[in-house]
Amino acid sequence: MLIDFHTHTTASDGALSPAQILQRASEAGVTTLAITDHDTVAGYRAAADIVSDYATLSLVPGVEFSCRWSGTTIHIVGLGMDCDHPAMREGLQQLGQARRDRGVKIAKRLADKGFEGALEGAMAAAGESQLGRPHFSDWLVEKGHVEDHNEAFNKYLGQGKIGDVKAFWPELAEAVGWIVAAGGIAVIAHPLKYKYTRMKLRRLVVDFKAAGGQAIEVLSGRQTPDQVTQLQRLAAEFELEVSAGSDFHRDGPYSPQLGVS
Ligand code: MN
Ligand code: MN
Ligand code: MN
Repeated sequence: MLIDFHTHTTASDGALSPAQILQRASEAGVTTLAITDHDTVAGYRAAADIVSDYATLSLVPGVEFSCRWSGTTIHIVGLGMDCDHPAMREGLQQLGQARRDRGVKIAKRLADKGFEGALEGAMAAAGESQLGRPHFSDWLVEKGHVEDHNEAFNKYLGQGKIGDVKAFWPELAEAVGWIVAAGGIAVIAHPLKYKYTRMKLRRLVVDFKAAGGQAIEVLSGRQTPDQVTQLQRLAAEFELEVSAGSDFHRDGPYSPQLGVS
């Protein structure tokens, strides 16, 4: 049996539409799927309208919120919440605004480097999707300012670069609070991706639990067996539920495929 509680669609920075991801999940033998786009539930909603076409697939409401903790940006997945609950509506509205504000700031910083028109370009690249750094990357590539996406992130958009603007995200406790108030389960996404020390990761778990968080991803994308064991121990020690998801964005030689078991 395959499940997947962490996937992206074109509503954020994924390559497949909601309809395509249902099709792919069904073909892959996934029986329970959550679409967890960055700071939007538009992809989930579109998929929810048509998931009844797939008898063997059940869809769980999901989202992946960006938030601040201890001077860094982390991601909290929300699962099973009521997307129409006022707390969720407020959170989604706030994150949407934060992304727009962040986009303005990234564009300003790029303009300071001599790249004019980034906001309009990134918004055109985003279309209906939630605006994110990949759309700035698309624009930088399209304009020939960089060779490819790797160069765009290595030079301008990646962690610690000018496009890495954190200031607008809500605090961890707020993001967890929206999910929990709306009846959902808050999950620490890809806990090892932040490259924290073990001590710092434990501090995150303590703060996360204090805010009402209940689970961590033990299986996420590409991890070694040792990493999985480390996360299982952490979950057990802090009595957290465990979640599992591919963090699927698109097909690629090093990209995880849909479905984990
Ligand atoms: Mn993403
Ligand atoms: Mn993430
Ligand atoms: Mn993700």
